[in-house]
Amino acid sequence: MTVTVRFAPSPTGNIHIGNARTALFNWLFAEKHRGRFVLRFDDTDAARSKQEYADQIVYDLHWLGIFPDMMEYQSKRVTAYENAVEKLKQAGLLYPCYETPEELELKRKIRLSRKLPPIYGRDGLAHTDKERAELEADGRRPHWRFLLPNYKRDPFEMVRTDISWNDVVRGQETVDLGSLSDPVLIREDGSYLYTLPSVVDDIDFGITHVIRGDDHVTNTGVQIALFRALGSQEPEFGHHNLLTTSSGEALSKRTGSLSIKGLREDGIEPMAIASMAVLTGTSENVTPESSLSELAQKFDPAATSRSSAKFEPGDLVNLNRTLLQAMPFGAARDRLLAYGVFGEKAEAFWLAVRGNLDRLPDAEPWWRIVTVKPEPGAELSDEDTEFLRTAFDLLPEEPWDAGTFKAWVGRIREETGRKGKGLFMPIRLALTGRDSGPELADLLPLLGREGTMARRP
Ligand code: GLU
Repeated sequence: MTVTVRFAPSPTGNIHIGNARTALFNWLFAEKHRGRFVLRFDDTDAARSKQEYADQIVYDLHWLGIFPDMMEYQSKRVTAYENAVEKLKQAGLLYPCYETPEELELKRKIRLSRKLPPIYGRDGLAHTDKERAELEADGRRPHWRFLLPNYKRDPFEMVRTDISWNDVVRGQETVDLGSLSDPVLIREDGSYLYTLPSVVDDIDFGITHVIRGDDHVTNTGVQIALFRALGSQEPEFGHHNLLTTSSGEALSKRTGSLSIKGLREDGIEPMAIASMAVLTGTSENVTPESSLSELAQKFDPAATSRSSAKFEPGDLVNLNRTLLQAMPFGAARDRLLAYGVFGEKAEAFWLAVRGNLDRLPDAEPWWRIVTVKPEPGAELSDEDTEFLRTAFDLLPEEPWDAGTFKAWVGRIREETGRKGKGLFMPIRLALTGRDSGPELADLLPLLGREGTMARRP
């Protein structure tokens, strides 16, 4: 069977690096098994779901290198859910309940005071047709609960019922259905909660592996029971730990923290994000991998730890820097165009500056320095100005190459007796206006003799 995975975000905000972790775990898993990747929008919450968020999610995934084989919206699949509801009702596994939240809370407290587990006692199941008719005549609308298979003969006597699976990430996992309330599948207003549509979709799309955050472990117990109630074999499951910042702060779509869009706008490379998102909280070191296929080599879901996956957002810039240092011109060329970097000097320029960038857009001021003029503001003493005038007069004739700077420095040293910082810093300041940056030996051929002479103070 073809491995088929899915990433199922709700389009209620921009996805963040933690969502990217889930998407990438699925994508890399599919890549390893030559499988398919389905993007499913869990948009049953009509009030909060927005098309613009769905579009942004597709864009963000593409930017990260994820290209879904199929895309679907839950809002377009209501008929499939209605059929499943009919099936469950026919089997007596979906029953109407009429309690208000306040009534439920009261029942919970009563159970606790009787030393019973604070789960739903299935009072709705006990109603006669007459009682239901009366409640509805009173204006009450039902919500619908799924009858969990956690009893022997009498549904009011729940017993320990272990549902176990071999988790792709966590190994052997067990959920006791006897300790859970029957889940509400349909709200009073007829809208669906996430639980049933997800199972129906996973069945209809032939999902073989559900890989998601470990906040869904309990759900999985319930959903396995639902797969079986609908006459289907459940897929395999994998639950990865959730990314949190090193201070323990959870990521939230609502607050927009560390969104993929925001990180992109900050100039963080997609592979810096992907490497951080996938390798954090695993037995691998977080190293900047240069492509998703390389990351796939290091990806092993079973090597993910069970505890939280903490990362330091500031480290993204370190990964970024390392990626840029090794980035070939071919990978940067098109993006550099946006900063006006093109022409015959572009490649040599890139190779000269890439080791000095936190972010690719930082190349733009360097391009201006090289092609227009140094940055203003460098203060030179009279003594240094004098030194520089002598030094510039010693510039070798063209043609220039990578060895020109060394030859020039040799002449300056001989003539002026200066060396080390006292020699290099005034030259750097005169040529660039900055006190640090790319190797002067690399910059000099880019400036050319004329361009260099123009910087003689
Ligand atoms: N929309 C759900 C979520 O974002 C999907 C969970 C799942 O993958 O089943 O939590």
